Amino acid sequence: MLLIKGGRVIDPASRRDEIGHLVLEGGKVREFLAGDAPSGFQGKVIPAQGKWVVPGLIDMHVHLRDPGYEWKEDILTGTRAAAAGGFTSVACMANTNPVNDSAEVTRYIVEKSLREGSVNVYPVAAVTRGLEGKEMADFSELTEAGAVAFSDDGKPVENPLLLRRAMEYMRPFGYRILSHAEDTLLAGGGAAHEGWTARKLGIPGIPSAAEEVAIARDILIARQTGGKLHIQHISTRMGVDLLRMARRAGLDVTGETAPHYFTLTDAALEGYDTNAKMNPPLRGEDDRMAILEGIQDGTIDAIACDHAPHEAYVKRCEFAAAANGIIGLQTSLPLSLSLLAGGKIPTPRLVEMLSAGPARILGLRGKGSLAPGADADATVIDPEEEWEFRTEDVLSRSKNSPFIGWKMRGRAVATICGGRIRHSTIAGVAADA
Ligand SMILES: [Zn+2]
Repeated sequence: MLLIKGGRVIDPASRRDEIGHLVLEGGKVREFLAGDAPSGFQGKVIPAQGKWVVPGLIDMHVHLRDPGYEWKEDILTGTRAAAAGGFTSVACMANTNPVNDSAEVTRYIVEKSLREGSVNVYPVAAVTRGLEGKEMADFSELTEAGAVAFSDDGKPVENPLLLRRAMEYMRPFGYRILSHAEDTLLAGGGAAHEGWTARKLGIPGIPSAAEEVAIARDILIARQTGGKLHIQHISTRMGVDLLRMARRAGLDVTGETAPHYFTLTDAALEGYDTNAKMNPPLRGEDDRMAILEGIQDGTIDAIACDHAPHEAYVKRCEFAAAANGIIGLQTSLPLSLSLLAGGKIPTPRLVEMLSAGPARILGLRGKGSLAPGADADATVIDPEEEWEFRTEDVLSRSKNSPFIGWKMRGRAVATICGGRIRHSTIAGVAADA
């Protein structure tokens, strides 16, 4: 038994936002109690006065690099970083080695996570074998092994007919495709957002249209087939507009953005900082504003950090040649909390994008809620704590972040997964072994 005592319990899924106590028992949420704390409680107590208690956070887009690239990250280190960042569940992408396009690889991820992971890991399997865009993977076999959705992330599914067939196949089963929306021909081998900064630095540009054309195409194919679609890492104004339009048309199309797209612009590339290089690239200020608008009006369903660990070697080189991606699990929550400044969005809306939103998109039963009977996954947040993100704080095996040295406000002070304390900085509350 575990009692999280006296916090502001914010659970958008059950429309709760009030001070009280949360009782966890047998791996589930037992009850919420308002008023006085229960006396004579037999079990561990986490004092949460002045803190927020929210459903365990979910990041639906991470790269754990396991199997095959364990020098960048593995399930042990990646899930430790997740727990420290307040996440109790992550969905990991299929661009491992071997690619997660077979039940063997899916099962390896599921079993290793149960054995060594600090948090829940949900494998996302490939749409096409080897991510090669030629042959469909066996979706039923992969789902049976534990896959929760399908994506060739890192690459788009180039062939529109194959995407159509995949969506048609998936439709009766309710499977969802998570789309890395990119027209690679239009992207033209660019390395930064096509704009003033890229021109000034002499870096080949990637036009916004490379992303937008692909989002539009995928939405139209979802409309044609009635398939479920999710657009990953939206970074442009028109990308948000297209998602909004799809939703108004009643399509089952959802979307995510990453903290870096509402925090940074391509100005971060000054000095050729390869730790600000990712795909899609950091865009201009107008795009950043559009992402904020999409968050405010509910168009964007989820915040996911696209945690993409890389060793220093593949980042310490000429900008155009450097690997894409940044780590994000330990900075996602504090950067997201900055959205609350100035009352741009209400706190429950932010919590929703980090919990109930991704749970709904991926169909994760028992997740993203603190209602009685839900899984005992909870995150305790200190919204006021000021801290600096330093290299030595990074729990990932890779340290590629443009946010090193940033002053942050707010962080997860305790992460409880399945009723077990996986991370704690609260005095007198130790993490479970
Ligand atoms: Zn991607």
